[in-house]
Amino acid sequence: MMYHACPLSRHQGVLLPTLFASLRIWTEAVAVTLGFVAIEALNAWVARRFGHAPVIWLGNGLLLGFLLDRRGGGIARILTLALLADMIFEIGFHAYGWLLAAVIAACKISEIAIAYGMLRGRLAARPDPARPGALLRLVTAALVAPVFPVLFAADAAFYLAGRDFAAALTAWYLPAVLGFAVVTPLVLTVLRPSARGEKRDIVFWLASFRYFAFLLAVASFVFSQSHYPLRFLVFPPLLLIAARRSLMETAIATFLTAAIIFGFTLSGRGPISLLTSVGVLSPGEKIFIAQIFVLVLGICVLAIAAWAEQTRRLRDIAAQRQHRLRESERRYRILVDHSRDVIYRMSPDGGRLYVSPAAERLFGFSAEEQVGSNWRTDVHPEDWPAVRKELRKFAQGADTIVFPYRRRCKDGTYLWVETRVGAVYDPVSGAVREYIANSRDISAQKAAEEQLNAMNTALVTLAATDGLTGIANRRAFDEVLEREWRRTQREATPIALLMIDVDHFKSFNDFYGHLAGDDSLRRLAAAISGSLHRPGDLAARFGGEEFAVLLPGTDVAGADEIAWRIRDAVAGLGIVHEVTPLGRISISIGIASDGPDAYHDPSLLVRAADRALYAAKEAGRNRSVIATSDDFRVTV
Ligand code: GH3
Ligand code: MG
Ligand code: MG
Repeated sequence: MMYHACPLSRHQGVLLPTLFASLRIWTEAVAVTLGFVAIEALNAWVARRFGHAPVIWLGNGLLLGFLLDRRGGGIARILTLALLADMIFEIGFHAYGWLLAAVIAACKISEIAIAYGMLRGRLAARPDPARPGALLRLVTAALVAPVFPVLFAADAAFYLAGRDFAAALTAWYLPAVLGFAVVTPLVLTVLRPSARGEKRDIVFWLASFRYFAFLLAVASFVFSQSHYPLRFLVFPPLLLIAARRSLMETAIATFLTAAIIFGFTLSGRGPISLLTSVGVLSPGEKIFIAQIFVLVLGICVLAIAAWAEQTRRLRDIAAQRQHRLRESERRYRILVDHSRDVIYRMSPDGGRLYVSPAAERLFGFSAEEQVGSNWRTDVHPEDWPAVRKELRKFAQGADTIVFPYRRRCKDGTYLWVETRVGAVYDPVSGAVREYIANSRDISAQKAAEEQLNAMNTALVTLAATDGLTGIANRRAFDEVLEREWRRTQREATPIALLMIDVDHFKSFNDFYGHLAGDDSLRRLAAAISGSLHRPGDLAARFGGEEFAVLLPGTDVAGADEIAWRIRDAVAGLGIVHEVTPLGRISISIGIASDGPDAYHDPSLLVRAADRALYAAKEAGRNRSVIATSDDFRVTV
């Protein structure tokens, strides 16, 4: 079972949809053909009741309209079917021979085919019939397409049926033209959705019904009487519809008017018989005049309606644009009004043209107070040079610049803001037309920045300070020594170094305790640094109870003098040290001084001072020893 089931279902899957599709296409073609012939038959039958040939070929106009509106192919199939059906109709209805019927049917269908070919690019696949030029194309096609087919058919009628050539020509040409010019626009506008997007609902039709009723009343009155030449009274209601309502309603109105005109004229009534001074017109002549009248009327009214529709559409578009513009302006305004930043527009010289409401919250000035004044007057004078430098970037082609500055507030204080300024250039001249700027409050950021800076400074100081004594530590001393050494070398100036060590300090600690020792170290540090008066001099704790004093630009004599001063200051402290022979704390100092090129290296200077200190200790403490290049000179 499975063996058979699979291929079968696959065949079904391909075949059935194809079959249905082609069935649908053929059904459509047959239905259209039958509709076309039925309308032709009805048209011919009604005309015959009036004892006349059809005055307008409804079927032609309808079929052309349908084909133009139709998407997709299959046009040839529909036309072929219509040709066969019409041929049968011509034989059955008019009792023509098959050859004449074939020629007439072929001519009729080729009219439609030619008109379709002429309009295919412009009107088919649903372009808009109200577009400028579309109606002109349609009228041209209506006038041109039937020319050769009708000539040919009239020829055939003359040769094959003995009909009068000129009579056949007039009897067939105008109905064909009218069919295309009056009925095709009707089909196109009714089938196609309104380009303006108006709803064709009951309200719409009720409104148009009033117009149609007025038109029908006027047209019926004018064309049912034969006493007054009032033909042109039919124009006002038509023009009213053309001007006020859609192209579709105008096409319907034109068709209704044509029906009334032809109906009354065929039945022998109407003002057309008044159109002569030479006697009574024949029915054929009256119909001919009616056809020309309807053609001219139709073309004029439809042209006006197309123009009016186009105008209305343009107005709609303009109104929509206006609306969109206002809407976007409103949204933009909401954005600007609710922005926490202050937004400005400024003239090229800096005059404020617009200021957003946030200005009041930020600066205290209302927007009105600000407009007209120059923003530069509110820049802090200290920040102005930097701001001016930024502004110059516009001259170098910058589009946007961002800079911070302090901005004056109404209460006289200044607020840190970051401002972003964009230049709007004139597209023609290239000059700056105006500036758009927004300012943001960055005071909190600035405060945090300042706090951070202070903390950094404190950290740097902390890193360079000795925790116990508060004077420079060893690290700072090394840095300064290195720097001052290089400067000394560069400027060929002297530099001196004192190495200081507290005498018998271990026993001081042992006797008085470490805390007392620390306190003494603090007082000694203060005494040492208090003895220095030059800004470049540096006192540092070198380590333990040793201190170093760096004296840039000082020679040996100067250094010796300062060593004396320091020892005096220490003696002045009078810190009791009972365990020593002196009975109070004293210090020993090693002095080293350096002229250009003496030591080549700062560490040698330190070593020399150290050795001098050692010598001072050796010599009995509480004294200074000066290191000379070969020996030491002790100064007690
Ligand atoms: P001298 O220098 O005269 O030869 O004898 P001294 O006893 O001072 O010997 P030295 O210089 O070697 O002594 C170092 C002592 O300094 C050891 C320690 O008790 C003391 N000292 C070093 N640093 C500190 C400190 O930070 N606080 C205190 N209280 N004492 C310290
Ligand atoms: Mg020591
Ligand atoms: Mg010591």
